Order: sequence, then C-alpha cells, then structure tokens
Amino acid sequence: MPDQKTLSTITTLDTPPSAWRSVLSTEGYRVMVDEGTEPAFSSALDTEKRDGTFVCAACFLPLFESASKFDSGTGWPSFFGPIEGRVETKQDFKSVLPRTEYHCVRCGGHLGHVFPDGPQPTGQRYCNNGVALRFVPDSEPLPGPRDPSGNDVTTS
Ligand SMILES: [Zn+2]
Repeated sequence: MPDQKTLSTITTLDTPPSAWRSVLSTEGYRVMVDEGTEPAFSSALDTEKRDGTFVCAACFLPLFESASKFDSGTGWPSFFGPIEGRVETKQDFKSVLPRTEYHCVRCGGHLGHVFPDGPQPTGQRYCNNGVALRFVPDSEPLPGPRDPSGNDVTTS
C-alpha cells in the first residue's frame, strides 16, 4: 500500500451518503454529509498538541500535519494550511456573507471554512470541525483508506 501521507494521485470516492451513515457518528454525519457545524469548544481535538497527523474522519485521508495547527481561540481546531492537494474549496452562500467551504478531496466530506486571517506562512485559517477529523499521533501507523461502500480503494 502506498504511504498515505505522500500519496500524489488520489482516487475520488463516489460513496453514497447513506453508506457514510454506517461508519460516522450522528454528529459526524450531520457535519460531513449535511455540511453542518459542530458547537465551538465541543471537540477535544481543539486542544490536541501532540505531533501527528489529522486524517479525514470519513475516509482517513491525511489532511493536516500537527505542525500547521495553531490556537485560534475560536473553539475549533485551526490550521494555517492542509497537506498539499488534500482539500478543495467552494463558495458557501448559506450565511449572509459568502464563505469559503472546504472538503476532503477524496470523499467530498465537509470539513470547515477557510478565512484569510490566519498566521504566517500562509495567512490562511482553516477552521475545521473536530468531528470531521481523527488524530493519529506519530507513534501510531496511519490507517489505510476507508470506503464503506465496499469498493477496494487501494488498487485503483
Ligand atoms: Zn475524506
């Protein structure tokens, strides 16, 4: 299996939303599939400070390195940038002012919003729902890709 962290080509999943229901918590499904937002300060990952990798809670794609995490004071895990090529953005018109939503490039799961008021080196603030992430400390192996629709995603 290729190293999940350095993987350069990512096969997009077309897992039906209903399949994610079987592997995500109710809150995880509400955030990642229905594009909801968890309450501030509700995730233990907000204060996670160990060295490691934050992977997508749905498909386990590595999304953020702990080195890019910072304390934004907002109550949501915040990063100045994702691992290159791991998230995609789109405009979200749900609130009065349009915001930039971002999601996992592999499974399409909603992660959070990005704002242009982050620290250097990028000046960006990726405000991520903790329930949409899973933290893997450096002492543990990264999980392989997950697709609950049962397709083998390791060989394509
Ligand atoms: Zn994903």
